[in-house]
Amino acid sequence: MGGPEIERLIGMLARLPGLGPRSARRAALALLRQPEARLMPLARAMEQAARAVRTCSNCGNLDTTDPCALCGDLARDRGLVCVVETVGDLWALERAGVHRGLYQVLGGTLSALGGIGPDDLNTASLFARIATGDVREVILALGATVDGATTTHWLSEELAGSGVAISRVGHGVPMGGALDVLDDGTLAAALSARRPA
Ligand SMILES: [Zn+2]
Repeated sequence: MGGPEIERLIGMLARLPGLGPRSARRAALALLRQPEARLMPLARAMEQAARAVRTCSNCGNLDTTDPCALCGDLARDRGLVCVVETVGDLWALERAGVHRGLYQVLGGTLSALGGIGPDDLNTASLFARIATGDVREVILALGATVDGATTTHWLSEELAGSGVAISRVGHGVPMGGALDVLDDGTLAAALSARRPA
């Protein structure tokens, strides 16, 4: 198809979510046909993002500052923490504008098959935040999968007795990186229909 540089570009694009080999070739061709207008600006933007990206030590969000812009926003309700699996879920909820508190990004769910245990989830900063007494309610917005339900159950057991109210979003809502396919009304309904966990 092309020289090794082009093959490498196509190979790396093909590993991105949503792109297979065929889409990767189309994307690569679109970039290569306009190197000055498309390829170089993209390369520069990627390098700048790679240098700037930080994981928020408070919530696990990705941003260019630590703490992230959400955790640093004093207008948000710091007593209300929504627990999600992925940064993609957080971004979907933010885009819909349905949550006015802070977040905790677990980075996955418990999974017996995947060998993911409690120590592999980003929960330490959540427990630390609860220990300060600032948190009033934790909303568990995890997936309606077996692993999501297991994680919801485990977290509500861990948090029982901590003095915070624990709720979970209404079921029938796909999560785990899938929130961004939902419309804002469905997201708002899922959050407002939360019930004690
Ligand atoms: Zn944060």
